[in-house]
Amino acid sequence: MKKQDCIFCKIISGEIPSATIYENSKFKVIMDIAPANKGHVLILPKEHFDNIYDIDTATAGQLFELAALVARALKTVLDCDGMNILQNNGTVAGQTVFHFHMHIIPRYEGDTVSM
Ligand code: 5GP
Ligand code: ZN
Repeated sequence: MKKQDCIFCKIISGEIPSATIYENSKFKVIMDIAPANKGHVLILPKEHFDNIYDIDTATAGQLFELAALVARALKTVLDCDGMNILQNNGTVAGQTVFHFHMHIIPRYEGDTVSM
């Protein structure tokens, strides 16, 4: 269910635009608005979950399957040298948007990304 004032719920509904690279009935994959590195994408479940503590395990499993496919596609397209897959829960852990999401961050030899 959509949560009031959730920026990712608004992106999913189309109320806020996003650069969407893939979408199906359950997930939307978008470019991060402030990419940590070239090709940084976010995978969003269309249903609102705050974090890892309330997402159902079936959806979490499907999301990880999609993450593997997206990671392989990005590797082919970008020819990156590595990739970080990251998912933050709670302010202290760096979560800033409280709609569950997974980061896929391509890495390149000599880049300066810090996690
Ligand atoms: P978190 O810190 O919660 O793990 O990650 C939130 C991510 O969402 C950040 O990397 C941030 O750049 C991204 N983000 C925040 N607002 C927007 C937005 O309006 N559009 C897009 N595409 N990404 C956003
Ligand atoms: Zn939401």
